[in-house]
Amino acid sequence: MPSETGAGLSGTQRIYVTTPLYYVNAEPHLGSAYTILICDTIARFYRQRGYDTFFLTGTDEHGAKISEAAAAAAEPPKAYADRISAAFRATWEACGLTYDRFIRTTDQDHVRTVQEILQQVYDAGDIYFGSYGGLYCTGCERFYTEKELADGLCPDHQSKPTWIEEENYFFRMAKYQDRLRAALDERPDLIRPERYRNEVRAMLREPLEDLCISRPKARLSWGIELPFDDRFVTYVWFDALINYVTAVKELGPERFGALWPTANHFIAKDILKPHAIYWPTMLMAAGLPLYQHLNVHGYWTVNGDKMSKSLGNIVRPLDMQARYGMDAFRYVLLRESVFGLDADFREGALVTRINADLANNLGNLVSRTLSMQQRYFGGRVQPRIDVRPEDNALERAYDDAARQCDEQVRALMLSRALEAIWRATDHANKYIVETAPFTLAKDPAMLPRVGTILHILLDSLRVTAQLAAPFIPETSARIVTLLNLPPEALALPGPAWGEAFPAGHTVRAPVALFPRIEPHATT
Ligand SMILES: [Zn+2]
Repeated sequence: MPSETGAGLSGTQRIYVTTPLYYVNAEPHLGSAYTILICDTIARFYRQRGYDTFFLTGTDEHGAKISEAAAAAAEPPKAYADRISAAFRATWEACGLTYDRFIRTTDQDHVRTVQEILQQVYDAGDIYFGSYGGLYCTGCERFYTEKELADGLCPDHQSKPTWIEEENYFFRMAKYQDRLRAALDERPDLIRPERYRNEVRAMLREPLEDLCISRPKARLSWGIELPFDDRFVTYVWFDALINYVTAVKELGPERFGALWPTANHFIAKDILKPHAIYWPTMLMAAGLPLYQHLNVHGYWTVNGDKMSKSLGNIVRPLDMQARYGMDAFRYVLLRESVFGLDADFREGALVTRINADLANNLGNLVSRTLSMQQRYFGGRVQPRIDVRPEDNALERAYDDAARQCDEQVRALMLSRALEAIWRATDHANKYIVETAPFTLAKDPAMLPRVGTILHILLDSLRVTAQLAAPFIPETSARIVTLLNLPPEALALPGPAWGEAFPAGHTVRAPVALFPRIEPHATT
């Protein structure tokens, strides 16, 4: 797909991957972990293929909710935000995520960029002063129309909104409605998958209103001051969304110019409207190109229920890591969901998946191959001679897997990419049964053939590790270590089959990559 290549100034292929900013009054859970794990997988995938890749995550730290939570904790808002943001960051670091920058909306360069863009849009006449009255929910930090309320109450908080009338600054969003419609017509994959593009087109059938973008300091001081009126701070949209620009703008004009048009935002569907409508119109007003794709995923339920504190069913990434390992958790989330659709998390299903795909299928392939290599040849890799059609068939199965994996990840079909890789490992396991090296080895005259079969299996392990590396990076690194190859062996494209192991190369003895989990050990 040519739209995926992100060719930049010098022809280098690039991609810029972002998570949403996480709001510091919530803790990392399955939903936030899912978005960032997808981004990490995508970033690793393109990095492995030699792309200039930039991967951004961070925290959203301004606003009424934070200033109230800080007051409740008897802390200044910045100290509160420092503490919670650090906790977020510590979680993601413990998960082994490979982001290039962790941005905070309180970072000085971000404050500067927000003020520059506000001033520019103001100077161009797209921000004006006006008065606004409406029903306001402090929990949501937004005004509601009568139509949006449920029996007069905020649908999220079940509380009665208060009528607030005040003077504020507004962004002329309505002015950009036609241009946004045209952009969606011209670029059918601007918003993916298509169901969300259709949702946005439906929203755009109604006239857009201008967007209130400020709060008087008298009511809320914890925010970025408007550069053209120090009685106000900017509110949510210019403060938060511009982070995507700040992070790459700091890399200098050339890299910014090359990376920005390749921006791939990943979000959950609850923040579709601000990312699909507010953000592109803001970019138009700021004279910046639109992002390449807005990629929208669904929600996770847990055993069929919405995750909530009151139900006590919040799934925390570090708990899952402690229980099963981060790779197993990553694998199951990516394998059990279809990007864009809702998915259900069940720990029993997770255990079944780990045992079947990781312990049995992949784990056995690694341990059988390496233990035969030890038993028959003391770990020394043998020359590939006497190559037969069944050997070529296994190579072709891996070539197919590599091609499908590439296509499916570019189309965000991560579960299909994993299926394709595991079809190849299935094939390799069957190849062991059918070629029966353990039987052939009883006849010394057949040892050269056994050596060839094992050489082909070692190449299968190597290519499995390469293809699986974006999804289960620790496991791929362990396989490469067992093969006694350097970490660079995971880069793509790698050497051809038969050319990866120099003469006399020795591989290591097997270890269990994924111990089988007894199903009764979980709840
Ligand atoms: Zn509310």
